[in-house]
Amino acid sequence: MKPVISQGHRNLRALMHRRLPAKIFKRLQEIGRLADATSVSAYLVGGLVRDLLLGYTNLDVDIAVEGDGMAFARRLADRYGAGLKVFDRFATALVVFPDGFKLDVATARCESYAHPTALPTVEPSSIKDDLYRRDFTINALAIRLNASHFGELVDFYGGQRDLERKVIRVLHARSFVDDPTRVFRAIRFEQRFGFHIEKHTLTLLKEAAASDLVRRLSGPRLRNEVMRLLSEQAPTRAIRRMAEFDLLRFLHADLALTSHLAGLLVDLGKSLAWWTKRFPRRPFDRALVYFIGLMDELSESATHAVVKRLALPGEQAHKISLAKRHLAPALRSLVRQRSPKPSETYRTLADLPDEGLILLVAKARSKDIARLVSAYVTTQQHVKPSLNGTDLKALGIKPGPVYKKILDRLLEARLNGEVKTKADERKLVKKLAEV
Ligand code: ATP
Ligand code: MG
Repeated sequence: MKPVISQGHRNLRALMHRRLPAKIFKRLQEIGRLADATSVSAYLVGGLVRDLLLGYTNLDVDIAVEGDGMAFARRLADRYGAGLKVFDRFATALVVFPDGFKLDVATARCESYAHPTALPTVEPSSIKDDLYRRDFTINALAIRLNASHFGELVDFYGGQRDLERKVIRVLHARSFVDDPTRVFRAIRFEQRFGFHIEKHTLTLLKEAAASDLVRRLSGPRLRNEVMRLLSEQAPTRAIRRMAEFDLLRFLHADLALTSHLAGLLVDLGKSLAWWTKRFPRRPFDRALVYFIGLMDELSESATHAVVKRLALPGEQAHKISLAKRHLAPALRSLVRQRSPKPSETYRTLADLPDEGLILLVAKARSKDIARLVSAYVTTQQHVKPSLNGTDLKALGIKPGPVYKKILDRLLEARLNGEVKTKADERKLVKKLAEV
């Protein structure tokens, strides 16, 4: 692709001043001055530049330096008493300022790929090369930070034009082959911004998707992009897009977007909206909710294979397996019990993580069941007997497996309101101990 020379050096200083938090604006100016003092060129790059032009908030500050970026990061950290973490292999550094503000600094580089999907070999280079290795033209824009050029937009590859025309376009024909994660990234940006994938790019994307390239991606790299897709505001369309490009097969051969699954994803959106309104301050893993939903028609062993393929971290893997094992029986039992006692609801739901509960509500499609889940989350989940093992000992009960039985029974009695006070519990314990 022929470079398009930047259109009259558009200056974004005023836009930056208006749109960025004052603290960030000031810091970027400081970076520019430090770049002058150390005779390097510093640029703001990546998603922040794109989002600035689109009018979206993005506070991920990525800096590229023409010259020794690591030495520059060190100077920056020294100057402001910031923490520094250098990743030599990629010539990137994370600078953490005393106020907690973080930014990434990288040496501008060109990349070459030993073979498709390999991590690239990097060599220091110009900003032009650095932007050329990026995924799409809209992500290949930069802003100069050096004082005398502060705010100048650097646009070698037509990123501005593509932003205006709402187009996702790769910079060269080998892009998806070099890095097939870009297939997922294209879908992510297409769906997030409501852009469309340019025709030639779409042909290349389809070729890459039809090949076996994605299969060669490491677990963590594939997982990262899939989870980022599922973290988007409305991932259902992105999932549909993955299915259209036949990408779901890279998660598992049996995974398909059936009409049942498509319907479930819609219900999942509703259930998520209900949950976040009902429990606004309760943190949960949104991407995982969709992930578990996506696995709904897979067997336990197939789901396990997906978890392994993506090398999902322990906590997510654990929640997935809990949901897989307990969701269907829980749903069956809730449907069966017309008006369950609180202790029964508790027992039915206790093994499910929140992400599983959200899916359960989606699958149940019943106000009554949503109400039971809500009562469980707000009340029953927090109920505990007042007495503990030490108390049982003090009551003269010999420690042993009987403790668990007694404590379980106490919890049940508490949940159902059979006991209300510590004295009630003691009475019940004595009764239980007699038998
Ligand atoms: P988001 O807003 O979702 O974070 P982003 O554009 O900031 O989107 P990041 O993954 O945070 O995306 O990466 C920052 C920048 O790094 C991108 O804008 C792009 O220029 C470059 N980049 C990231 N991943 C790739 C990739 N796989 N191939 C090429 N360039 C990439
Ligand atoms: Mg980003």
